Amino acid sequence: MDFSIPEELETIRRSVREFVENEVFPREEIIEEEDRIPEELIEGARQLGLFGTSIPEQYGGLGLNMVGKCIVGQELGRGHAGFSGYLGAHTGIGTSGLVMAGSGAIKEKYLPAMAEGKKIGAFALTEPGAGSDAAALKTSAVKKGDRWILNGVKHFITNGPIADVVTTMAVTDPSRGARGISAFVVEKDFPGFRVGKIEKKMGLRGSYTSEIIFEDCEVPEENLLGKENEGFITALKILASGRAGLGARCVGACQRLIELSLRYAKERAQFGKPIIANQAIQWMLADMVTETEAARALTLQTAWKVDRGADIIRDAAMTKLFATEVLGRVADRAVQIHGGMGYMKELPIERIYRDARITRIYEGTSEVQRMVIAGQLMKKGYN
Ligand SMILES: Cc1cc2nc3c(=O)[nH]c(=O)nc-3n(C[C@H](O)[C@H](O)[C@H](O)COP(=O)(O)OP(=O)(O)OC[C@H]3O[C@@H](n4cnc5c(N)ncnc54)[C@H](O)[C@@H]3O)c2cc1C
Repeated sequence: MDFSIPEELETIRRSVREFVENEVFPREEIIEEEDRIPEELIEGARQLGLFGTSIPEQYGGLGLNMVGKCIVGQELGRGHAGFSGYLGAHTGIGTSGLVMAGSGAIKEKYLPAMAEGKKIGAFALTEPGAGSDAAALKTSAVKKGDRWILNGVKHFITNGPIADVVTTMAVTDPSRGARGISAFVVEKDFPGFRVGKIEKKMGLRGSYTSEIIFEDCEVPEENLLGKENEGFITALKILASGRAGLGARCVGACQRLIELSLRYAKERAQFGKPIIANQAIQWMLADMVTETEAARALTLQTAWKVDRGADIIRDAAMTKLFATEVLGRVADRAVQIHGGMGYMKELPIERIYRDARITRIYEGTSEVQRMVIAGQLMKKGYN
């Protein structure tokens, strides 16, 4: 078994690490205080091709496989979660449906601009009445001539207020439940598309989350993504591949928390010695590193399976569940090691702790991941 990173990927990893350390770290306070991603960071990400990690080279992307995307995701995860969440929603759930299920015409039309970061992607599945039970969605799509007419409200959509291209799930045959849902590529400029309420959140500053409202929104028939009534399967595939990417970002966040905690524990002295001299602190650090490495291994194993075309429904759910829960525990211990300073906005720990909380909720809650894992076990056994 070979765990080494191929040279070409290692070069990309190093340049993303430098970008995060030299460009993202110094701007984290601006993102936090002003709730916006500075234009020079967006430009820097463009230069590195970070808007096109999921997009094949023929459409101007980096064409990375899933292992490659996870290596990049780990590095971005060390930086500000609002910035990596904005990029992650674009490159992951915002783009992968077009890559996976888009016709040649859809790919030609949208992917080059999305790879350059000139058009931003989003993914709209969740509705006020359809969260964990995503198949209960009510947004409808009715065919009229050469257009689909969409009506309904999506909420909690990452990049909603700034997205140009939204992969949208809507009911095309209400009599068929999940098998009556189709996916559409909807542009923000289509008549009847509107951004609704923009949410105020606990964290993820710089990453915007909003309603998207469709009022007789006209979508050309060629913007049906994949086959009619097969959109829910596409949505599940998009979410499954997104889960490995999110796992990778969580591993990156854990790494940052460990680096900061190790440094603080060596510098902070109480009772006449650095706090790291206490076994209680050492054991917290030991558990943080052990769990992080286990999450890293699971994430990369799942990514490796994605690249081999394996069925990864259970693996993706396990990765999302484990990596996000590990991040929660690592963030909690990082605050503890920092004592009162861990609670102060002066250090990044407080922010990372808040930002970590969402990972156990979005892209399917921990409870939903356990339902998926158990469902797969009951259906397919364990081998
Ligand atoms: C910041 C943010 C960004 C988001 N971005 C996007 C996006 O880009 N696109 C998108 O489509 N969606 C997005 N979402 C939506 C997100 O995926 C949902 O919030 C999530 O799936 C949970 O749905 P819900 O909020 O309706 O919670 P609910 O489904 O109402 O769940 C509430 C609680 O009940 C539990 N629960 C529900 N059913 C069961 C069950 N059967 N067994 C046990 N427990 C259960 C849940 O686990 C949870 O603890 C985002 C959400 C947030 C907060």
